[in-house]
Amino acid sequence: MNLPFFPKLSLRARFLIAMGIVFFPVVVVAIGASLFLQHSANALNRIVEQPIYKLQATSRLQNQIRKTSALARDYAITPRFSLQSQFYVEAAGVDAIFSEILGKPFLDPKEYSLLASARREWKDSLTLAGVIFTSRAPKAALNQLDQRVYQIMFQLDQAYDAYYTEIGTQRAQINESEKRYLLVILVLVGLGLLIAIIGAVWLIRSVLVPLREFEKGMAKFSQNNLSYRLPLETHDEIGHLAREFNAMAERLMQHQHKLEELSARDSLTGLYNRRELEKRLHEEAQRARRYQHPLSVLMLDIDHFKNVNDQYGHQAGDEVLITVTDLIQLHMRPVDVVCRYGGEELAVILPETDEEGARTVAERVRATVADSITTTPQGDMVHVTVSIGIATFPRDGDTASGLIHAADTALYVAKQEGRNLVRSH
Ligand code: GH3
Ligand code: MG
Ligand code: MG
Repeated sequence: MNLPFFPKLSLRARFLIAMGIVFFPVVVVAIGASLFLQHSANALNRIVEQPIYKLQATSRLQNQIRKTSALARDYAITPRFSLQSQFYVEAAGVDAIFSEILGKPFLDPKEYSLLASARREWKDSLTLAGVIFTSRAPKAALNQLDQRVYQIMFQLDQAYDAYYTEIGTQRAQINESEKRYLLVILVLVGLGLLIAIIGAVWLIRSVLVPLREFEKGMAKFSQNNLSYRLPLETHDEIGHLAREFNAMAERLMQHQHKLEELSARDSLTGLYNRRELEKRLHEEAQRARRYQHPLSVLMLDIDHFKNVNDQYGHQAGDEVLITVTDLIQLHMRPVDVVCRYGGEELAVILPETDEEGARTVAERVRATVADSITTTPQGDMVHVTVSIGIATFPRDGDTASGLIHAADTALYVAKQEGRNLVRSH
């Protein structure tokens, strides 16, 4: 199944939407829980309806008993048959209310026994009413009836109190369980939200933070800082990508070094070229100036090199050139820089070397070349000499070009004075 990707949306926006989707069920659960809570609270409230109903029914019962007993009392004063028959009609009403109340379930046994006792008293009252209706002297029976009714009223009043206590207890229980429900729901929803937030933060941090590192790395890269490496050591896809990125940066840096090396070297002799000579001499001149250190430059030219080419061929000339450069390098320290200035003209930078030191080195090179013979691939034995001009910082020049010019002038003098010679400016 292909889900829509929304490529125009930023990752950040997509994460926020995804988080919204994650949070949605939590919010739904929270709303559902609060609705459930309301529903259960209503159900619990319905339990309280029972004692309230009994309260109302008992009030009705008291009125009915009062009304009924009043008829017996009226009869005792003025005996009329209608009062008697009305009494029994109303007494049936009392019985009906008693049955109605006692038919309901009772949580408190005290309430039941009060009502049951009141009913028994009422049954006795009916007997007393029978005595009133049949006796010629009903006064004593009437007094007893009044006492009974008083007793019944007292018991029903006690039942009232019991109802009120029951209502109060139930309400307190409902409130307590409502509170407990609410607390549990709040804790669960809070826990859900917390987990969702932790998950969201963790996801964002594990993707967006490394992504920012990538952005930073790319910016460094585009500023040609190829030595920068992404500091991502994780073992997930992003870590894998970062390692690939770092490996690519390493390869690019090596290629760049190789290119820089190639562009600084001469292809025939492998020596640094003229551009590199000028750059390095410039740096050395600056260093010599800053630290007041000596610095010398040699300019070498193979004598009558044209003749070598003419006599043995260009290839033999190349071979001689390579031999001479090898010999020169043999006499140099690692800090010395040998360059091909052009044609068969070579230059050597001698850092930390004064004129005397330079002269010694130059003399040794001149003598070694003069004593050597190159055997060409064709088997010819070629002998050449070199002329060398010396320039020393700062006497002969305090810049790269000044020093080269001075060494070149000295070389010219060496040529003028007969070749195979070393001359200072
Ligand atoms: P001198 O310097 O003693 O005055 O005489 P020269 O014959 O060396 O003088 P010039 O500078 O006129 O000639 C240099 C010759 O070097 C000319 C050119 O053919 C040759 N040459 C320059 N570069 C190379 C090279 O890479 N290989 C070969 N085989 N010859 C080269
Ligand atoms: Mg020459
Ligand atoms: Mg030359």
